Amino acid sequence: MEKIASFQVDHTVLQKGMYISRVDGDVVTYDIRTRRPNTEEVMDNASIHTVEHLFATFVRNTEYKDHVIYFGPMGCRTGFYFLVRDKISHEQAIRMTADAFAFIADYEGEIPGVSAVECGNYRDHSLQGAKAEAAAFLPVISDWNTQKLTY
Ligand SMILES: [Zn+2]
Repeated sequence: MEKIASFQVDHTVLQKGMYISRVDGDVVTYDIRTRRPNTEEVMDNASIHTVEHLFATFVRNTEYKDHVIYFGPMGCRTGFYFLVRDKISHEQAIRMTADAFAFIADYEGEIPGVSAVECGNYRDHSLQGAKAEAAAFLPVISDWNTQKLTY
């Protein structure tokens, strides 16, 4: 079988940040990399899960909500994928990502969608962990720009 595009990225030199993973028609997949691959401890699942719920809730409440396709964790637990339609510019996607991480870092209260009806593993959440992940990534994403989006 053919090697898929995301396996052709050299993960040994990849730094934390936000990158264009692929473009399919009008859909852009961003690689939001919160860990340097294979060099530091990966995120724990409960924290990832809560980041997922809060990030998705935040971006689906922005003016761009109709152009957001998906946000979810990578299986390697070193980052997330964020899929948008390209009606959202790269600048807007970076800004929205930074705003979402700021929102998570400051979030207090009930995690959205945490019940047996709404979530597939509602016991596996960590708000404190998610806030720490978001706070740690904020300096990286706040300093990001479109020139840095290419691997
Ligand atoms: Zn869930």
